[in-house]
Formats: sequence, C-alpha cells, structure tokens
Amino acid sequence: MSGSDIRPGETIVDLPAAGDAALHFIGTIHTPWLRREDCPRQGRSDGPQCRIELDPVWRPALKGLEDYEMIEVLYWLDRSRRDLVCQSPRSDGATVGTFALRSPVRPNPIGTSLVRLLSIEENTLIVRGLDCLDGTPLIDIKPDRCAFTPVAPPKS
Ligand code: SAM
Repeated sequence: MSGSDIRPGETIVDLPAAGDAALHFIGTIHTPWLRREDCPRQGRSDGPQCRIELDPVWRPALKGLEDYEMIEVLYWLDRSRRDLVCQSPRSDGATVGTFALRSPVRPNPIGTSLVRLLSIEENTLIVRGLDCLDGTPLIDIKPDRCAFTPVAPPKS
C-alpha cells in the first residue's frame, strides 16, 4: 500500500511535518510513581491500576482494542540519560553492555510493557502492569498478537 492509499472505512489525522524518524507522543501515562526509585523495575500483573490518557485525536484508533486482554505499551523514558554504552547495574564496577540490559538508560529510551487491559473509557485506558513514572510520554499501543497476521505454514 503506498502512502497515499487508504482502505475503505479507514480514517486518518493530520500529522506534523516529517522529520528524520521523529516520534510524536500520542498521550501521557499516569502512574502512582513520582520518583524513579519508587517504580518497579518491571511491571507486574498484580501491580496498581494505571491510566493511559490518549490524545483525543487518536480515540478512533482504539476501535477493536477492547477485544484484547493483554496489550503492549511503548513509552519514552523521558528522564533517562542517553549516553551510557556500558552500565553497572549492581553499582559494583562490573559492567554489561547497554543492549544486554532492559535499563531505561539507552540511546533511544523506549520502554515496553505487556499490560493487562482492564477498561477503556473514551480516550482513557485503565491497565495493570506498568513500571514508569507519572507523566511518561506514550509512543504506541498494540495488541499482544495480531488477528490479521496469517500464521506461517509449518516448515517441511
Ligand atoms: N518495562 C520497560 C522495558 O523493559 O523496556 C522499562 C524497564 S526500566 C528497567 C523501568 C525503570 O525505568 C523504572 O524502575 C524506573 O527506574 C525507570 N523509569 C520509569 N519511568 C521513567 C521515565 N519516564 N524516565 C526515566 N526513567 C524511568
């Protein structure tokens, strides 16, 4: 499908001027955590309810998401430094490469969590399983699997 083609029933919104792989945030995540040290290292399915506030312009993009129990949330870890190549997760001098870690400190600080979708109310999603600070910018939401991807045939 070329950039100018859309399928029947599909809708679009005006996008900001294109940049070099520029991201634009599509909402804000609200969690109980105001300090990094209070966040869990990874979200848990029995963690507190968190609120994902989607920019209202994207509300129609939620159509069908209510059919999924587990969704993947991508967010921008906006308070991270971005220049560490090797890190010492235990602060003991032993280092590991950034790409061998799920640390928030990375050149492009994208975080992902598989979360349980509890409800959708207009442009607000209530979920459990996040691990980010209150106010973290939202990059994307997708179901944990895709109903429209054909299953690959078994290898013969
Ligand atoms: N689940 C995501 C992943 O694996 O991609 C993120 C994992 S990262 C280890 C989670 C930690 O990032 C939190 O415990 C907190 O210390 C830190 N963090 C959370 N929100 C952040 C933000 N907005 N900016 C910078 N650091 C953040």
